[in-house]
Amino acid sequence: MKDLGPGKGTSFYIVGEISRFDQKNEMFKRSMWDPQFEQERKIYYGPSYPKEKDGFSQEDLALFVASWYLEWGFGFGTAIHNKGLFSWDPPQSAVRRLPPDIKRKVADPYWMSRQVKRVAKYFGASEVGISMTDRRWVYSHSYNIETGEHREFELPEECKYSISVALEMDYRLAKTSPTWLARAAEGKAYSMLPVVTSMLAQFIRGLGYRAIPSGNDSALSIPLAIDAGLGELGRNGCLITPRHGPRVRLGQVFTDLPLACDGPIRFGVIEFCEICRKCAKHCPGHAIMQGERTTQAHNICNSTGVLKWPINAEKCFSFWAQNRGSCMNCIRVCPFNKVAGWQHEVVRWLIHHVPTLDRLILMGDELLGYGKKARAAGYWD
Ligand code: SF4
Ligand code: SF4
Repeated sequence: MKDLGPGKGTSFYIVGEISRFDQKNEMFKRSMWDPQFEQERKIYYGPSYPKEKDGFSQEDLALFVASWYLEWGFGFGTAIHNKGLFSWDPPQSAVRRLPPDIKRKVADPYWMSRQVKRVAKYFGASEVGISMTDRRWVYSHSYNIETGEHREFELPEECKYSISVALEMDYRLAKTSPTWLARAAEGKAYSMLPVVTSMLAQFIRGLGYRAIPSGNDSALSIPLAIDAGLGELGRNGCLITPRHGPRVRLGQVFTDLPLACDGPIRFGVIEFCEICRKCAKHCPGHAIMQGERTTQAHNICNSTGVLKWPINAEKCFSFWAQNRGSCMNCIRVCPFNKVAGWQHEVVRWLIHHVPTLDRLILMGDELLGYGKKARAAGYWD
């Protein structure tokens, strides 16, 4: 654990001026106001009907919708900040047992960071990391999909620290992508994010400090998580974590509780992505690049100033609409997407320390059939 300034992890990717991202241009928000995507929006947000196709049965649909219940009903972290479980201030009923105006003195931020991580994991986080809040990743404007309100956005100045959490998605369900069953893996993680981050925020408030739980509602979660040492950015546009690969969903808590920050990590992802391209080959929407990293944006959904493989969110969203749900093929096929096991630990170590073996490892991954789509019906047998 090293105390670093803001943006030290992402500095590896930054090659130009970063303009803060406008939430209105995030693809799901954009589909609400841009007439170019009216048709896709109607299909994507409209009712779905079971089909005679593996992964699209009535029980698959029911599980997918049920898995999103907490996020759609009480979280709203994929929509707008400061609402539901992501409220910036707790309800009175949740604080009346706490003594007002008592602040826990923090003599040792390293000790406090360990406690915060302990509590985050107790509440359900798979991974936790801490960074200084880099304001460049905070949205410049918020966009309310219910009211269409679009206005300048700032986090409170005192929230200097960002606690990033990653929640693992179910491996077995994710393997059925692009089905409704895979969408249930995503939905459960999104439903648990407001639970984990709101309880973690409430723990910090109990120590007498400000804490703001957040999903995708206030800032770009991936660069914050990179700064917090949770992983690297892959060709598929996802955070690749050492233990779960890209099979995670992200959230964070912003706070003024004095904490010690984590350093960025590098474990060979960029080098592996340069030769791999599996996600690009298996992307049904042709939204992932085959070539080199670039700073060139596909459209207004991409942020600027960052050297990466930008995703074409327009194409990705169009496929999601066409598929009546979602897709996580780029997560399913990724060689970093593995369950726990010593043999996978050895391979990760080799990718990190012996990059000359990357091609061999990739061949082995193909030969052993990792990343192949699993039958969704098998889940219900
Ligand atoms: S979610 Fe599916 S369509 Fe979108 S980038 Fe990934 S593989 Fe392509
Ligand atoms: S599938 Fe391959 S290229 Fe794509 S993110 Fe994973 S390792 Fe990188």
